[in-house]
Amino acid sequence: LSLHFQPQVNTDSGVLLGAEALIRWHDGEKQVPPDHFIPVAEESGLIIPIGDWVIEQAIAQIAEWRQQFGDIPPIAINLSARQFWRPALSNQILERLKAHHLPNHVLEVEVTESVLLDAEGGSIEELRQLRQAGIPIALDDFGTGYSSLSYLQRLPIATLKIDRSFINNLVLDDGSPGSEPLVRAIIAMAKSLSLRIVAEGVETVPQRRHLTTLGCDVIQGYLISRPLPAVEFAAKFLVDRNTQTSANKAAA
Ligand code: C2E
Ligand code: CA
Ligand code: CA
Repeated sequence: LSLHFQPQVNTDSGVLLGAEALIRWHDGEKQVPPDHFIPVAEESGLIIPIGDWVIEQAIAQIAEWRQQFGDIPPIAINLSARQFWRPALSNQILERLKAHHLPNHVLEVEVTESVLLDAEGGSIEELRQLRQAGIPIALDDFGTGYSSLSYLQRLPIATLKIDRSFINNLVLDDGSPGSEPLVRAIIAMAKSLSLRIVAEGVETVPQRRHLTTLGCDVIQGYLISRPLPAVEFAAKFLVDRNTQTSANKAAA
């Protein structure tokens, strides 16, 4: 297993604002995509040791980067509903941060609506504890599930990540507005709730320009970079953040 890192940047300026840690499974020469093994791991319970590994690995990586580069923007990890079934997930995360002598705000947590719907565990209480400890929570794949809008007010969420299917269909090939009206509405709603918006899966310059016009603050996607191994991510995005900003801006 390894972690790859994908940058999140300011839509307009290209300034690095964070990154998402994404797991990779190397099976000999082959790479098994997470979409294939994460669901199986969730079903079998293996997601618990895998999730523990992601938490420790991401935090250790942040500690190493902070030693090399000083303060860096927060790194997000993905958590599955099943990880919340075990008591004290939030304590576990906070304890790992402490063990590496890190302030809590270096980490961010991404969950999908399935975590919030899962009555089994005390997931909402756990998320509250993380938020109270200064770890921001992002709601992943927003718009694809059975979003009950009342969640957004009740839950300790800081960020909405608009699913990449909406970004992909922003404008259709014949020029008709695909998901644009929806994206516009999601952004307006997020703003009125003081939530940050991240657009996922941004692949083209026109998509980026469109999102700037719609007032989306943060983008993530192949246009800026694919998820990269830690060493490459650091070389490209952490070593000289000023130079990088102009390169990211050039992609606009
Ligand atoms: P996700 O959290 O929605 O992650 C974003 C996925 O979109 C990643 O796929 C990323 O490589 C891909 N992506 C990013 N930019 C673009 C783009 O511009 N175009 C396209 N077509 N795709 C883009 P990846 O890495 O294969 O991960 C798939 C899913 O696996 C993730 O979706 C997440 O649900 C899950 N996953 C990955 N790592 C972990 C982990 O450590 N723990 C848990 N529980 N789940 C994980
Ligand atoms: Ca995610
Ligand atoms: Ca997502």
